[in-house]
Amino acid sequence: MSNTITLLALLLLPHLFLISGAAAARPQCFWPGQAPEDAGCLSWRVMVEANNARGWRTVPEQCVGYVKGYMTRGQYLRDLAGVMEQASAYVDQAADADADGLDAWVFDIDDTCLSNLLYYEGKQFGAYDPSAFKAWASKEACPGIPPVLGLFATLLDKGFKVFLLSGRDEEALGPCTAANLEAEGFSGYERLIMRSPEHRGQSSSVFKSAMRKQLVEEGYRIRGNVGDQWSDLQGDCVGDRVFKIPNPMYFVP
Ligand SMILES: [Mg+2]
Repeated sequence: MSNTITLLALLLLPHLFLISGAAAARPQCFWPGQAPEDAGCLSWRVMVEANNARGWRTVPEQCVGYVKGYMTRGQYLRDLAGVMEQASAYVDQAADADADGLDAWVFDIDDTCLSNLLYYEGKQFGAYDPSAFKAWASKEACPGIPPVLGLFATLLDKGFKVFLLSGRDEEALGPCTAANLEAEGFSGYERLIMRSPEHRGQSSSVFKSAMRKQLVEEGYRIRGNVGDQWSDLQGDCVGDRVFKIPNPMYFVP
């Protein structure tokens, strides 16, 4: 009897292993937001970067810690460096600037050339507050973003005209913005274009479209355009190619 049981066990054992092996090999599948320990924050960030999530005023409360981690523990810098590698490859394979001096690039300033991470971290990525932001920007203490400075320098070396285009208010923040840029190495650009009084109240997208259109009417050919908001990169005269720098901290329409 015991021999029969032993024989049965020997015959069945490989099948048992096969069955348990098949169960172990079955992939575990989760819909976004259903994975354990996931509050849907990665999905939310991807939606932001793909311009599917729009018009949001603050980082969702459950994602503040996630955004802080993303911005400060390396992934943001890796993603940013990746975007700049793509831009550099595009510059390398495209023709050098024409001798007529009209090949141009447009760069946004906030969270493109200069970082506001310290400011937004301090306010827990809350809603845009014009007076608090003005106080922060007036300190001229925004750190430069090194990979963007690298692209900026390459373009100047290759003879491109670089225009810095910002929705910052020119009257309130003109001199301190210019000084901050200079201190962080952004010098040699063609023109710093900021929001003059007649453009107050316009969305960034409308204002920046009008300014780029003006450059094109002056004869410039916009070869590339770099910004952290889709409103930097959509609208009129956006350029031959746009490069979106990650920014899950705030949304500018
Ligand atoms: Mg910006």
